[in-house]
Amino acid sequence: MPQLARRVGRAKPSVIMQVAEKAKRLKAEGRDIISFSIGVPNFLPGEHVYAAAREALAKDSGQYGSNRGTDALLDAFIAHMEALGLSGYGRANCSTGIGAKHVIYNLAEALLDEGDTIVFPTPYWTSYMDIAEIVNAKVDLLACPASQDYKVTPAQLDTALAKKPKVFLFNNPSNPTGMVYTRDEIVALADVLVKYPDTWIITDDIYNRMLFDGLEYANFMQVHPQLRERTIFIDSLSKTYGMPGWRVGFMAGPESVAKAITTLNSNHITNLPEIVTAAAIAALTGPQDVPTEKCAEFQAKRDQVMTVMNAIPGVVCPRPQGAFYVFPDISCAFGKTHGGVKIGNDVDFCNVLLDAKGVACVPGSAFGEPCALRISYTCPTPQLVPGLTRIQEFFAELA
Ligand code: PMP
Repeated sequence: MPQLARRVGRAKPSVIMQVAEKAKRLKAEGRDIISFSIGVPNFLPGEHVYAAAREALAKDSGQYGSNRGTDALLDAFIAHMEALGLSGYGRANCSTGIGAKHVIYNLAEALLDEGDTIVFPTPYWTSYMDIAEIVNAKVDLLACPASQDYKVTPAQLDTALAKKPKVFLFNNPSNPTGMVYTRDEIVALADVLVKYPDTWIITDDIYNRMLFDGLEYANFMQVHPQLRERTIFIDSLSKTYGMPGWRVGFMAGPESVAKAITTLNSNHITNLPEIVTAAAIAALTGPQDVPTEKCAEFQAKRDQVMTVMNAIPGVVCPRPQGAFYVFPDISCAFGKTHGGVKIGNDVDFCNVLLDAKGVACVPGSAFGEPCALRISYTCPTPQLVPGLTRIQEFFAELA
């Protein structure tokens, strides 16, 4: 019998999807389930996006497209970056992929040889670890618990970079914590980054339009423009525009890296579909009222979640200022029981909560932080308060 490649043995199915699947199954069995599990924005893009897709469909060229992305799409992305305060990028600095996940996967292929080290903070977005494992990189994790607001400190970064890793991977605003680095915090980290010229920097900023409380998005390249020669900025339409299924991701960075990503595209995806491209351009260049309204709605939902989290004795929950996640430390529940069922860890907690109360959350260990769980709060508004009330009841019933 021939064997599968060792690489596949290292690939694991997503824990987030497993929780979502269990919740779906219970729902199909007739249970009343409220899902705080999967990280989808739960809104649809504006009508102009669909109009552009319909128009493109009517004019289908029937041809293959550009491996990098069409000029019009790249120009729309460049204009979008300029609005974020990132100017001076040309088409040759950019490339695209089937979602940011695909772009990050390509970057791992492009930047990491087997055995090279990639550094990133915990909690991390699950796929960072999965992708690093598939390409057989060594992973150096920087532990950032709730007590430091889940944020990496300049001292931690300095110690890690002194070991000359090949790549530092950063995510701001964060999935799963919703935390946002202030400009001062970005400056302090950028001051460390400039000291270590041998390390590539990937900054996954796909939630850059989802900031609350008037906070302004900041990044390393604004602080030290010389970091551009080794920093790769990642963006996506999935969250900002309510388009996760359309699969459009972007990168901007040095020309050599954009070229490598484009070459990888030429060897697997060839191009983003024409209709998707038209919709993406419309999303980036058209009216921005849907993303703006949704951001305000998420801020209000964040407030509702935080009111409940702050009211539960023992739960430690740093206040998120972006994205649509809250990441409470629930380790106060470990060692207790619910309805006679013992809760030893975060996975037990999420299973018992789902079975007893019909609320699905993702265990923090999926993100490298087993003391916590992730609440993704984009569910329809009428479900939010009942879901939170059930969590509060669940804690009150622990013995
Ligand atoms: N980065 C982060 C931090 C994410 O949360 C996600 C999606 N959950 C991605 C990248 C991938 O997004 P996309 O849908 O564009 O592949």
